[in-house]
Amino acid sequence: MTSRRQATLAAILIAASIASARAQSSAPDWRAVEADTLRHYQALLQLDTSNPPGNEDRAAQYLKQVLDQAGIPAQIVASDAKRSNVIARLKGSGRKRPLLIMGHTDVVTVDPAKWTFPPFSATRDGGYVYGRGAVDDKDNLAAALMTMLLLKQQNVALDRDVIFLAEAGEEGSTGVGIDFVVREHFADIDAEYCLAEGGGVTRKAGSVAFATVQTLEKVPRRIELVAGGVAGHGSVPLKTNPIVHLAGAVARIGEWRPEIRLNETTAAYFKRLATISPPETARYYRDVLSSDPAVQKAADDWLFEHEPRHSSMLRTSASPNIMTGGYRFNVIPSQATATIDVRLLPDENQEAFLEQVRKVVNDPAVEVRYPTAATRPSGPEARLDSEAFKAIEAAMTRVYDTVTIPTMSTGATDMAQLRGKGVQCFGIGPATDFEDGPKGFGAHSDQERLLESELHRFVRFNWEVVTGLARAPR
Ligand SMILES: [Zn+2]
Repeated sequence: MTSRRQATLAAILIAASIASARAQSSAPDWRAVEADTLRHYQALLQLDTSNPPGNEDRAAQYLKQVLDQAGIPAQIVASDAKRSNVIARLKGSGRKRPLLIMGHTDVVTVDPAKWTFPPFSATRDGGYVYGRGAVDDKDNLAAALMTMLLLKQQNVALDRDVIFLAEAGEEGSTGVGIDFVVREHFADIDAEYCLAEGGGVTRKAGSVAFATVQTLEKVPRRIELVAGGVAGHGSVPLKTNPIVHLAGAVARIGEWRPEIRLNETTAAYFKRLATISPPETARYYRDVLSSDPAVQKAADDWLFEHEPRHSSMLRTSASPNIMTGGYRFNVIPSQATATIDVRLLPDENQEAFLEQVRKVVNDPAVEVRYPTAATRPSGPEARLDSEAFKAIEAAMTRVYDTVTIPTMSTGATDMAQLRGKGVQCFGIGPATDFEDGPKGFGAHSDQERLLESELHRFVRFNWEVVTGLARAPR
């Protein structure tokens, strides 16, 4: 070989190694990715996984086949074959603990008559995709799937495993989904961090206003009030009438607002919300953080009337939602019951709270109890000083150019079971229009939709977060 040929060969080799380094470090060709994203998203929306009955295996089989074709090892796990879950893993160097990205495959039921576009058609219209699950949760599901496919395609070197979980039964039947997976297959999903649903980016008048990331959620628990007495003839009113006792107890609970207690998430939430809100409302968000009880109370009163979700975020809440008692007009019944929907702050002492409710009820004729065990465990909040939150915030700035506000959701998600096992979970979601909610296009509405452009932006956001957390340093 002449020295010139050697030099040429060396140049080719250097060029080739630069090219391969580029191939590994380059971002995906997003234009090309969009077609795949839309195809998988629509395919998932077209599978009817209404829960009940669920039939999530339809989605599980689809996902497994896509992952298999891409050469990503995936397994199906199930306690009920029709309601299976999928777990897939991309191996990293193991220098850091794994990252879990997840989405649930089931959707809530539909009343097809109310839908303009059939609920499982995934119709594209005016820049939107319509279908049950469009924003709960086939958006997160498709974005997590695309992230796995892209990591594999781009051959990204990882310093932690990235695990994908598609779970069944999130909408009220967690026994076949997250409970089963956590109980029987926890080793396959055990991770330092997880990303799931529960957050989102809010657009107002077409532009991004702010982003929320769920770092904590309240713990649902029901309390039952049972009033007892002696049955009798309705023509002879009795002091012991259980309906009268129960009504008094329910009224006292309705009047009661348990004490305000903030945590790292809610304190940061109101502080950041104040910075992006108009002065008229910002003052209440600031006042609610005040150490002066009178100032705080005035803000709380305003929130309770005008922004009840915010009032619930400040405390353990108790809403009387069912009352039963009596069966004919001339009979005084011997029993009447009420059910209270309680949403506990994650650090609440549940027995001590029950004792507080007994004090508020203040009636020995009314028994106050938890009739069932808790269905969602409580766990520590995801830390705002963690590598994961920082990566999410950085990606939010790059992709959406907006402020990230940590939130505690008043409702429950499958992240509860993972937090209960010590996984730090963060709820994320695509950008949706604030105006879409009241128009009936939100999650669980008689019409669900997502802008195609926001679906694609959400895939890029997922990619940024996951590579930010899992890519091996070069
Ligand atoms: Zn959901």
